[in-house]
Amino acid sequence: MALLSKEASRALVQGVNRLVGLPNGLPPPGPEPAPRRRSRAPGTRSAEHVDLAVIGAGPAGSAAALVAARAGLKVLLLERGEYPGAKNVSGAAFYGSAIMDELIPRWWEQAPVERYLSRRVLAFMSPETSVALDFRSARFAEPPYNGFAILRPKFDRWLAEQAVAAGAFLLNAAVVDDVLWEDGRVAGVRVRREGGDVRADVVIACDGANSFIAKKAGLQREFHAHEISLGVKEVLALDEATIRERFQLSGNEGLAIEYIGSITEEVSGGAFLYTNRDTLSLGVIGQISSLASHKRRPYELLEQFKAHPAVAPLVRGGAVREYSAHIIPEAGWNMLPRLSTGGLMVAGDAAALCFVAGLYLEGINYAILSGIAAAESAIAAHHEQDFSAASLARYEERLKARHVLADFRRYRHAPAMVNSERLQNLYPAVIADGAEQLFRVRGDPKQKLVPIALEALRRHKVSPIDLLQDVVNAGRSFGW
Ligand SMILES: Cc1cc2nc3c(=O)[nH]c(=O)nc-3n(C[C@H](O)[C@H](O)[C@H](O)COP(=O)(O)OP(=O)(O)OC[C@H]3O[C@@H](n4cnc5c(N)ncnc54)[C@H](O)[C@@H]3O)c2cc1C
Repeated sequence: MALLSKEASRALVQGVNRLVGLPNGLPPPGPEPAPRRRSRAPGTRSAEHVDLAVIGAGPAGSAAALVAARAGLKVLLLERGEYPGAKNVSGAAFYGSAIMDELIPRWWEQAPVERYLSRRVLAFMSPETSVALDFRSARFAEPPYNGFAILRPKFDRWLAEQAVAAGAFLLNAAVVDDVLWEDGRVAGVRVRREGGDVRADVVIACDGANSFIAKKAGLQREFHAHEISLGVKEVLALDEATIRERFQLSGNEGLAIEYIGSITEEVSGGAFLYTNRDTLSLGVIGQISSLASHKRRPYELLEQFKAHPAVAPLVRGGAVREYSAHIIPEAGWNMLPRLSTGGLMVAGDAAALCFVAGLYLEGINYAILSGIAAAESAIAAHHEQDFSAASLARYEERLKARHVLADFRRYRHAPAMVNSERLQNLYPAVIADGAEQLFRVRGDPKQKLVPIALEALRRHKVSPIDLLQDVVNAGRSFGW
């Protein structure tokens, strides 16, 4: 077993000791406090005890820790990174402002948000052209706002600080390797260090898309390559005035652009570009099975994306400040795990609650919603002192009450539809081609829309049967 550094080991012991007896909060700088009687020396087999252990201080984990700590539970929030958000990757367009407003009223006034998103663009790309649906709403520019561009290292750190302020104990550089079992139910966590067992009445696994904990506990199966995508992202520095001018933004207004079509060439996926205060976040997302079968590397696709004639002028002069990559669970309803068992619940990406459906890439808001629902279930279990599988199964009812499961069920056909070959490559090219014919002036007779559309479909060899089938599938996925 790999060991943590001395500092991290000391922090774990201090953390649990504090939870057990001392006031909550981050460990003060300076020498290690004298050991309390109730604390155990590192390396002994007996474990300390908390009401709730939360694995992972991403949005799901910090939201769960915040809610449970507010209710008076002893909460230990364990994060493997040096600080929350240190390695976390997202676009990130955060569409959970109203949800956060319930948790922390007018949260945007204190949180490190970049820009509120009042404009969304969906662009259909061919190699030379782009056709865009550009939506802008003055109502999205009013509190509580529809969404914000955020940078995860800052946002995650802030959200974890809110959990700490509510009384949770945050332990950084603490990798949880497994859960502890007792009498057939989960009864704690095993942190990667000697003597690193922490007993807990309830554990919430919020350890992200590749949740070893959900798999080890037998709640989640191994994924298929078509259920997972890889996202690569860059943050480009540009000065604030250039961003406003280039994207026609005023004040703190921001823009989210999502791209589909040949922007990822033949690979199933898409791309995004979001405006931050003085940076741009942009990236490419490719389905793992499709990247493998087409032998394409994601960073090559990112370079091509930046070089596309519709994108290059937007990113010109941007200096790369960060580069990151992360997987995304994309299959929605069809890859949801069992959500709980005795002593354990899974939330956020660990439960595959990432809503990816062409028009939408929303994981942070569902992570927060599921973190809240799991914390509420832990609180109810604490009051009843019942941590059985039956008690924690009510987590599912709470997810239903917050419409989380209904959203995933309603859009259960969308991920397969969105990743289909024709929707990915053929139709965006047909739309781009049709638009080009519509706007091109050559002195020929002007055609009406239907002949232009039929001609574009014929040029791209779309069979009427396929088209009909796709219209029905699209209706089933998005329409009714
Ligand atoms: C390229 C890309 C773009 C995206 N864009 C968007 C977007 O624009 N909008 C949106 O809403 N969503 C977006 N998503 C999805 C979003 O990032 C996730 O849905 C969201 O981060 C899930 O939050 P979470 O808290 O469940 O997991 P995570 O954010 O992954 O957090 C998990 C945490 O657990 C910690 N951890 C993991 N294992 C352990 C362990 N064993 N022990 C201790 N700690 C551990 C990690 O360090 C991390 O802090 C995007 C994802 C990617 C990859």
